[in-house]
Amino acid sequence: MTDTASLPSTFRALRVFKDGEGQPRAQLDTLPHAELPAGEVTVEVTHSSLNYKDGMAVSGRPGILRRLPMTPGIDLAGKVLHDVSGTYQPGETVIVTGWGLGERHDGGYATLARVPAAWLVRAPAGTDAHWAMSVGTAGFTAMLAVMALEDQGLRPGEEGEVLVTGAAGGVGSAAVALLARAGFNITASTGRPQEADYLRSLGARQIMDRADLPALRRPLESERWAGVIDTVGGATLAGAYASTRTHGSVAVCGLAGGAELNATVYPLILRGVNLLGIDSVTCPSVRREAAWARLARDLPAQTLAPMTQTRGLSEVPGLAQEILAGRVRGRTVIDVQ
Ligand code: NDP
Repeated sequence: MTDTASLPSTFRALRVFKDGEGQPRAQLDTLPHAELPAGEVTVEVTHSSLNYKDGMAVSGRPGILRRLPMTPGIDLAGKVLHDVSGTYQPGETVIVTGWGLGERHDGGYATLARVPAAWLVRAPAGTDAHWAMSVGTAGFTAMLAVMALEDQGLRPGEEGEVLVTGAAGGVGSAAVALLARAGFNITASTGRPQEADYLRSLGARQIMDRADLPALRRPLESERWAGVIDTVGGATLAGAYASTRTHGSVAVCGLAGGAELNATVYPLILRGVNLLGIDSVTCPSVRREAAWARLARDLPAQTLAPMTQTRGLSEVPGLAQEILAGRVRGRTVIDVQ
């Protein structure tokens, strides 16, 4: 059994600093073990991932990192080295997403992490840390969105056209793959029509150019979508919500196109439309475990492979700019070691 004395004395981390009044900047650093934050479980991080939020944190955009210097990375996976709570055995493969990791608490862009035991999920049987991070917060959020739509009664069928917005992004790609696995008729909306073949390969039946999504003209537009998974927000969400069919549901995940929601109550009170909030960060543990178990079944490594690239820790600052510019396709795993 690993004891605290045999833990590595130093670890490598991508840290975001701020010098005086200058812009925050990210830099690789070697830190003493004593710099690890409080928590019961010490994890040897082997993989992390890149999400839109990480792009914001690493680029020094305000509102993500609550103090500086700090280690970003809202996802991590690796092996337990030591757990003072006794819940986890050394060598177990574990996953952490959300809970403030990489926002309030040093995150996954480091070779070591220390976190509360309650934040961990065991990697499902037959999976590994690379798989877990090719899912990451994005895939986990997509799973929560699909589960939320199903909880409201959405079922596959000819009437059941489901819209995914921001479809070529991380959450969007995973949502398309998960909905396809469940048998839904998917329309993928994207601003990158060159990704049409990619989206079809994930299971989308119709591809819609972002510019062709019906704009919001009236509080109630013609009914079209049985369900919506929206990662874009703003005018895209407002238009999709007004076009949702009677008793259809909209899972609201993101704000890649804007945080505002210009809408009326009419779809809610005249069509019984369900507007469903998705928050992966605070998702309770029981639902987390259910989501990860289903991800292991429905989004196996071979399904994720065409939507996943693997890059090194030193490449994260450059990748952060790319994801903010909407140029990253699907998922990016960060090989931390
Ligand atoms: P990505 O950058 O991978 O995907 C976002 C996609 O949105 C892009 O690929 C692009 O899709 C589309 N997009 C980008 N900019 C615009 C724009 N200006 N107008 C319209 N569409 C745009 O990010 P993620 O998939 O990691 O995250 C997506 C969103 O979900 C983010 O806002 C993120 O903060 C949020 N999120 C929320 C979570 C939650 O718990 N609620 C958890 C994880 C993410 P395309 O090229 O196909 O048009």
